[in-house]
Amino acid sequence: MSSYDFDLVTIGAGSGGVAASRRAAVHGARVAICEGDRVGGTCVIRGCVPKKLMMYASQFSDAFADAAGFGWSVSPPDFDLAALTAAKNAETARLEGIYRKMLADGGVTLLEGQARIVDAHTVEVGGRRISAGHLLIATGGAPSHPPIDGLDLAISSNELLDLTSLPRRLLVLGAGYIAVEFTGIFAGLGSDVSLAYRAELPLRGFDDDIRGRLATAMRDRGIAVHPGFAPEKLERSANGIRCHAKDGTVIEADVVLSALGRRPNTAGLGLDAVGVEVDAKSGAIRVSPDSCTTVPSIYAVGDVTDRAALTPVAIAEGRAFADTVFGNTPRVVDHRLIATAVFSQPSIGTIGLSEPDALAAGHRVTVFEADFRPMKHTLAGRAERAYMKLVVDADNDTVLGAHLIGADSGEIIQALAVAISMGATKADLDRTLAVHPTSAEELVLMRSPRGG
Ligand code: FAD
Ligand code: NDP
Repeated sequence: MSSYDFDLVTIGAGSGGVAASRRAAVHGARVAICEGDRVGGTCVIRGCVPKKLMMYASQFSDAFADAAGFGWSVSPPDFDLAALTAAKNAETARLEGIYRKMLADGGVTLLEGQARIVDAHTVEVGGRRISAGHLLIATGGAPSHPPIDGLDLAISSNELLDLTSLPRRLLVLGAGYIAVEFTGIFAGLGSDVSLAYRAELPLRGFDDDIRGRLATAMRDRGIAVHPGFAPEKLERSANGIRCHAKDGTVIEADVVLSALGRRPNTAGLGLDAVGVEVDAKSGAIRVSPDSCTTVPSIYAVGDVTDRAALTPVAIAEGRAFADTVFGNTPRVVDHRLIATAVFSQPSIGTIGLSEPDALAAGHRVTVFEADFRPMKHTLAGRAERAYMKLVVDADNDTVLGAHLIGADSGEIIQALAVAISMGATKADLDRTLAVHPTSAEELVLMRSPRGG
């Protein structure tokens, strides 16, 4: 029996912290977890879950609009954001209850309060000092606040999720995941949405064919898309908030969403004093592939390490840590092939290398693509198209990347990710019989390469 109070003290009961703590307890470790806010973390309380519920709500407007083409008469629908927010809050409270029960049932002690690291084996929480053989930092991230004059007038995704009345005009700043997802959600719910970002296309890092099609689809849905808009200053006006760009363009709105990235949550943790190093630029905790920080008894997983800020990644890192340190099964997470979905409207699913990244990595590349109007859109009278792209290594036929935009792309990419993670070749896809009539069947029916 060690002289420490616990074998592991985890700081942060979000996706990574909860997964790591429960897995460590399964391996027989005595575990405590500290949480300064609500159990469940970003994903459950103010991220993936409430966002996706709002996305479902927003998609009803498409269904109402499309219904007439299928013979339905629908009287003008009415939407109540307060009712949605109340229902969403009830659901996140239910999930928080499940998380609390999972921790208790798993034998993990919950310590409520902001935690601070005192030394390599000690944490202070709620005025108490607790010692452990290992500490795990899983404190996640928070909206970043770049130095833009008047940005305090804007709200972050945290507050946007709790609005009870629909903004008539919403300005979204940024063009990452959060910006494009909430743009689609609020446009679907009925706000006049402007999306303003400094680059030429949204979603930097995604395949350019997807980025261009998303911008077009958003414009076709009535969203005012402003590329090349570098925000310089926000100020109150008689009618709302005015946002000025460096080139002199001004956009006025009732609510401004600042979706300008997220930063790792390390403030007040006491990292300096204990010798845990952070990256000077991003503020992320530096870790080895097995998530160990610069202090051997302290590990870190999830968004606070800024490897890939996604829930399944935080969970995988947390479990790998627990298996390595407490389960006698050393393993690391492979961050090279991560499938991801953007719940924009239309949605995006992607895995592997974009075409430019594949070329930059020295591959000779063959591209296969399908660009089509989904069957459902014909009777609906909707012009929106779907697009799928496979980036294939011309030398060995391996599928290096798959990039989808269109309904259900997030669902489709999960299944395709299994094949691609196993090293599927284009010939493997060609050999697969189609499921008809679906959109996904296009993935196994692409016969001619682009330009071929
Ligand atoms: P978190 O889940 O953020 O948990 C960290 C916890 O630590 C928090 O509960 C916090 O209160 C606590 N904490 C912090 N400091 C202290 C302290 N000093 N003491 C005690 N407790 C502390 N990912 C997806 O995969 N799919 C999605 O669809 C998706 N949608 C998202 C939508 C939004 C709006 C946002 C913001 C994020 C979304 N993400 C999504 C990202 C995902 O939520 C994160 O990657 C994930 O939650 C990271 O888990 P984590 O354990 O690292 O941190
Ligand atoms: P992202 O990093 O995805 O995007 C940040 C955006 O802010 C970019 O468009 C960036 O522009 C812009 N930006 C940053 N600083 C400035 C500035 N000073 N002036 C103007 N523009 C600026 O961050 P998000 O906040 O959208 O999301 C954070 C992470 O959370 C995501 O990367 C993702 O990992 C995760 N997430 C995942 C979701 C999912 O899985 N569906 C959903 C939501 C979040 P530029 O590109 O030009 O640098």
